[in-house]
Amino acid sequence: MRKNIVAGNWKMNNDLSQTELLLTDLKKQTQTSNAEVMVAPTFTNLHHAFISLKDTKIEVIAQNMHFAENGAYTGEISASMLKSVGVETVILGHSERREYFNETDELLAKKVDAALAKDMRIIFCFGEELADRKSGKEEDVVGSQIKNALFHLKAWDYKNIILAYEPVWAIGTGETASPEQAQDMHAFIRKTIADQYGYEIANDVSILYGGSVKPNNAQEIFSKPDVDGGLIGGASLNAEDFFAIVNAF
Ligand code: 13P
Repeated sequence: MRKNIVAGNWKMNNDLSQTELLLTDLKKQTQTSNAEVMVAPTFTNLHHAFISLKDTKIEVIAQNMHFAENGAYTGEISASMLKSVGVETVILGHSERREYFNETDELLAKKVDAALAKDMRIIFCFGEELADRKSGKEEDVVGSQIKNALFHLKAWDYKNIILAYEPVWAIGTGETASPEQAQDMHAFIRKTIADQYGYEIANDVSILYGGSVKPNNAQEIFSKPDVDGGLIGGASLNAEDFFAIVNAF
């Protein structure tokens, strides 16, 4: 059975004292839904957040990692370093990593392998740009992003894979995919996985939607059968808004 998941991607926001305030606010919230809840602070705040949220059901996850175990990669962080501070799940392939840091499908395939080798869970992100959608190519783009980075995996690897569809045109823009657009794409994504691995695997993979999810639109998006949760940017920086989304299931 696939899980409902709501993950907050804090991106490059919040220094240590701001992180402390947000963590304190998060601990005051009440969860009424059954969703798994995750937050992804910056690397510098991971350890602090892990300690702070230890006795809660909120999991602390990372926004990125390098594929190498260690070595001469100035400025980078490995899977085992993340695990050493309590992190068991990592976001890979976010469109901002693809766009500003030139992360390709080939590089992401290596990162996926490195995370799985350490038995980490992965929230793997992908999504089309506005021009792709305008020219009707959104399924081609999404299909090839998935194939290129994930189709070398074995069926059993998918127990550690969470997919996140984030149309680039909806990230931070206030424009969301309509619930119908999200459902259509999520059904396509599940079929893409099913065609390669069968429906038993595909039906167990959680597929999250990301892109301007807010308290006022979460419920309608989450009500769609193939939408299993959300990856939340801006609205995850406010604990009340974030839990309004968590409780939208
Ligand atoms: P927004 O919710 O701010 O649009 O960001 C979505 C996102 O990129 C989450 O990873």
